[in-house]
Amino acid sequence: MAPMYIVMLGPPGAGKGTQAKKIAQNLDLVHVSTGDLFRENLKNETDLGKLAQQYMNKGELVPDDVTVRMVEERLSRPDCELGAVLDGFPRTPEQAEALGDLLEKLGGEVKVVPYIKVPDEDLVERLSGRWMSPSGRVYHEKFNPPKVKWIDDVDGSELYQREDDKPETVRHRIEVYNQQTAPLIDYYRSQEVLVEIDGTKPIEEVTDDIMKAIEEA
Ligand code: ADP
Ligand code: AMP
Repeated sequence: MAPMYIVMLGPPGAGKGTQAKKIAQNLDLVHVSTGDLFRENLKNETDLGKLAQQYMNKGELVPDDVTVRMVEERLSRPDCELGAVLDGFPRTPEQAEALGDLLEKLGGEVKVVPYIKVPDEDLVERLSGRWMSPSGRVYHEKFNPPKVKWIDDVDGSELYQREDDKPETVRHRIEVYNQQTAPLIDYYRSQEVLVEIDGTKPIEEVTDDIMKAIEEA
């Protein structure tokens, strides 16, 4: 069977990571988040992590060549044989072109691009209340609280707030998204794979809408 790739698109805080995890689980695909991969490198103090950190802390994008190489390596691993749910990649037209070339080599293609729409004014509240688990699970103090404050429901580890979720960095990340990533909306629309999803609904409803869109594709 040809591998299937799903690209989650939307501004920072739209719910891409939250949804990508659920969709990947439902479809038995791997969740590939470039943000998580960079954070893992940062934690392990690799050269890639040190390089990425300089950009991430400022809310800038890590250069395309480095990012594309990391994704190539990840998607070529055996656990991605059936495909992947991509979250946070591509983020520029250059990355989208590189992804197209890579998937051609891997014998697959981008099947659906759920574009999760949430108004800018909601994003700062979502990100400033976001609590992360070291495992990558995502909570929100108000919208998706853990059972015990600051503790991961699943493995009991301590939750933390991301350095780049400070309101001033968030505002810059939204600008960067509007300038560099938003052109991908038209790019994937013209390839007839884009599906608009109302990201203001509760988390479970958004998941249902995305699953429906994937089934229809
Ligand atoms: P992204 O990966 O797009 O940056 P996340 O999945 O990390 O976004 O979600 C950002 C924050 O918003 C998290 O704290 C998450 O719990 C919360 N969130 C996600 N989806 C919803 C939703 N549908 N309604 C309310 N809050 C949400
Ligand atoms: P995220 O976890 O998706 O919010 O990403 C966190 C940060 O990692 C971003 O603000 C960027 O600095 C960096 N990053 C993640 N994905 C990419 C990408 N595809 N291209 C460039 N930088 C990225």
